[in-house]
Amino acid sequence: MADRIKREIELKENLRALIEDIEKERLKYSSHQIIQLIAVSKYVDLSDIIALYNAGQRTFGENKIQDLKAKALSLENLPIQWHMIGTLQENKINQLLSLRPTMLQSLDSIKLAKSLQLRLEKNNTNLDCLLQVNSSNESTKSGFSLDSALDSYKEILEIAPNINLCGIMTIATNTDDTKIIESCFKKTKDIFDKLNKFGAKILSCGMSDDYNIAIANGANMLRIGSRIFK
Ligand SMILES: *Cc1c(COP(=O)(O)O)cnc(C)c1O
Repeated sequence: MADRIKREIELKENLRALIEDIEKERLKYSSHQIIQLIAVSKYVDLSDIIALYNAGQRTFGENKIQDLKAKALSLENLPIQWHMIGTLQENKINQLLSLRPTMLQSLDSIKLAKSLQLRLEKNNTNLDCLLQVNSSNESTKSGFSLDSALDSYKEILEIAPNINLCGIMTIATNTDDTKIIESCFKKTKDIFDKLNKFGAKILSCGMSDDYNIAIANGANMLRIGSRIFK
């Protein structure tokens, strides 16, 4: 019990310090910018999620469908907004939809968009999604290439009316070289700006180690895990 209370205080302080830091970076970028924080809870169990919920956090992200399912079902009495941020296998689409997630951030292929559209149409429902862009150009990372992202975004708008495309998401190269990270975010922001007239509103970049660079390059959604739950 004492450990639990200690942990709750610790998480509350982590969240407070993080929000304070985000706010500092946000004001450097623009006082008009609104930034949404997704707490990535993939490392932790229910008690830590509840502790963060009690500290005021309402939006959480998971990268595996089975974890998302277990946590969302266990916590269905809380008004938590769940974001799916990891690769979605086509055979897991039904599971995802049954959980009524707030957003799928990892729409990473035309093939997935087509399957998702079929299923959404059948269920007579919609889903907010972000197009995942592979800004680091690493073959191990999923997402649309920087070259194809623009056309693919427009194609999905045309062929998948039940997918509400809200913007784009990217994961920068995992490196200490800030120039390389910056370049990933800048290239993604360029695409985002071009998609503005097609309704793109959300630019989801930035994790624990690079969120300050992401904010400086226009990110308005951050996905942060270890910095909160360490
Ligand atoms: C794990 C994960 C994050 C959060 O990473 P941290 O470095 O722990 O903040 C963000 N986005 C995606 C897609 C992830 O899988």
